[in-house]
Amino acid sequence: MKNTTQLLMLNAFLLFFILSACAQDPKKKSATNSKTTTVMKNPYYSRTSKETLHVSDEDWKKVLPEDLYEVSRNADTERPFTGKYWNTDEKGTYYCAACGNLLFRSGAKFSSSCGWPSFFEQENKKSVVYKTDNSLGMERIEALCGRCGGHLGHLFDDGPAPTGKRYCMNSIALDFEPDNK
Ligand SMILES: [Zn+2]
Repeated sequence: MKNTTQLLMLNAFLLFFILSACAQDPKKKSATNSKTTTVMKNPYYSRTSKETLHVSDEDWKKVLPEDLYEVSRNADTERPFTGKYWNTDEKGTYYCAACGNLLFRSGAKFSSSCGWPSFFEQENKKSVVYKTDNSLGMERIEALCGRCGGHLGHLFDDGPAPTGKRYCMNSIALDFEPDNK
């Protein structure tokens, strides 16, 4: 009987120990996260500078969040219907998330069923530049930021009037500034 009581007490003690260890865990994690997620300020970001940027991937890697780096510098594509802007219609301006270059106005955005934010017209001729992309066995036109050369998405010919173009963009590569801020 005495042994059973001792065993129960030992179990209770162990349970208490495990629970308090678990309770402390999130605190420890958040402390670690706050240290590791500190991203160096991006010195290339400017909404006013027109200067063309020639920055190495190595230097971009130091200042861009990993997911943006993968899209902007490695032409990665975010999964459809997951980005921030694929189904928004707020009035405002879209800038390059990597360098701050003016890309699109919300008036050129249209509701597309493809799962990525889509525009029929770039804001000015320096907003977006193009490159032929033969990856994945397709011939597509890659759309790049006119200032930093970062990958934004692709340009297709099945957009609405008046241009007939569809700029199919990755939300992560865009920085949106609402008009009524
Ligand atoms: Zn850019």
